[in-house]
Amino acid sequence: MRDIVNAVVSGEAGREDFAALAVPGTYRAITLHKSETGLFSGLATRDKDPRESVHLDEVPVPELGPGEALVAVMASSVNYNTVWSSLFEPLPTFGFLERYATRSPLARRHDLPYHVIGSDLAGVVLRTGPGVNAWHPGDEVVAHCLSVELESSDGHDDTMLDPEQRIWGYETNFGGLAEIALVKSNQLMPKPRHLTWEEAASPGLVASTAYRQLVSRNGAGMKQGDNVLIWGAGGGLGSYATQFALAGGANPICVVSSDQKADICRKMGAEAVIDRTAEDYRFWKDEHHQDPREWKRFGKRIRELTGGEDVDIVFEHPGRETFGASVYVTRKGGTIVTCASTSGYNHEYDNRYLWMSLKKIVGSHFANYREAWEANRLISKAKIHPTLSKVYALEETGQALYEVHRNRHHGKVGILALAPREGLGVRDHELRAEHLDAINRFRTPALAHA
Ligand code: NAP
Repeated sequence: MRDIVNAVVSGEAGREDFAALAVPGTYRAITLHKSETGLFSGLATRDKDPRESVHLDEVPVPELGPGEALVAVMASSVNYNTVWSSLFEPLPTFGFLERYATRSPLARRHDLPYHVIGSDLAGVVLRTGPGVNAWHPGDEVVAHCLSVELESSDGHDDTMLDPEQRIWGYETNFGGLAEIALVKSNQLMPKPRHLTWEEAASPGLVASTAYRQLVSRNGAGMKQGDNVLIWGAGGGLGSYATQFALAGGANPICVVSSDQKADICRKMGAEAVIDRTAEDYRFWKDEHHQDPREWKRFGKRIRELTGGEDVDIVFEHPGRETFGASVYVTRKGGTIVTCASTSGYNHEYDNRYLWMSLKKIVGSHFANYREAWEANRLISKAKIHPTLSKVYALEETGQALYEVHRNRHHGKVGILALAPREGLGVRDHELRAEHLDAINRFRTPALAHA
């Protein structure tokens, strides 16, 4: 592994040098163990501790199949899907691996007693399988997390509609929180050359998701001037949705839960910010009943910030706790676009406010290759910036997951895999220098822990 790291860090090794490097037989990886899926039974979600369920193991390098690539992972990042997998919620991920294994002899590789998790990476291609022509050993890459088979016609209009669509490192094995990862070559994209490894690894999943959800015709199809209500605007998805809104000439109304996160949104350029804790919205009177007066109070506050207008788009992901309010505050004909249900997936809303006002609820999930590519292209052109707040070593992944589970983070949390330290991997120093102020402004400090 040391030769690989030296070759990458030197920045001088070429294609032939990488092709000549031996791929080790084993690598270090963050894993979940199939034997431990009952670890947290009986505990409330909040009390489940990812530090107990994730392991750092030495595992064999998987066999490389057609259309695939082995990548030396320099850095990865924490996504909420990894929090879910580490809590074995809503289901242990081993069921996904077992089901995938029934598809083909090659897919059987994924069904193991351990699951290497993680859905982001920045690194260097080590080997490519038969049929891969677009990528070569030595290519510096990031990987998006859409794994598709495309043997059915269904996925050929929008690859997210492939019946065999899976999220790599969540519904497949050999993910990115590791020193080596196995991906399909059509997950690869060029690494933004002005970013460090850990910066480049951090936007992938959330930026692509936010791009589809907010900007793409497959999502809300945001246009100039739209008022966009963004829940969790200081979090992973929200910090990119805020940037896409600003870069696309829309008007983000950012919702956050602290002063510090409100400041962070303002530093990104947002003017309208709602601190949901300070303003103490209580959309639920009790576990079963919502309070429409609180929806109204929230809507009134939005109008104060927009000069009397309602929102064209709600960027939804908290789910049960906020969905009733989201449907209520959307303008007539507007769109609530949802990709998640962090606080519960049985949503309740008053349907009169939907049908009478001709609103739409749109479901959105990750992104197709083209959408991920477009999000990455904007990052490569320094029009969208990584919102990395804190970086952990691979062996500290459990702690990193714990912080995200407890909502004690801001933006994205990075993980160093093979990169020996932060700050390495910048190839285009000129572009970085040109945008250094913005890069530093978006790389906000980690939240002080309570
Ligand atoms: P994150 O970094 O934790 O950010 C989410 C933010 O939402 C939090 O920082 C919090 O911000 C806010 N929030 C959480 N619970 C809330 C509640 N009950 N009411 C209002 N706001 C709340 O997570 P993320 O990466 O943005 O992901 C968010 C969700 O989307 C997760 O459930 C994740 O699994 C899902 N997701 C889905 C996809 C997909 O493709 N379908 C992709 C990415 C993520 P404040 O406390 O500051 O308000």
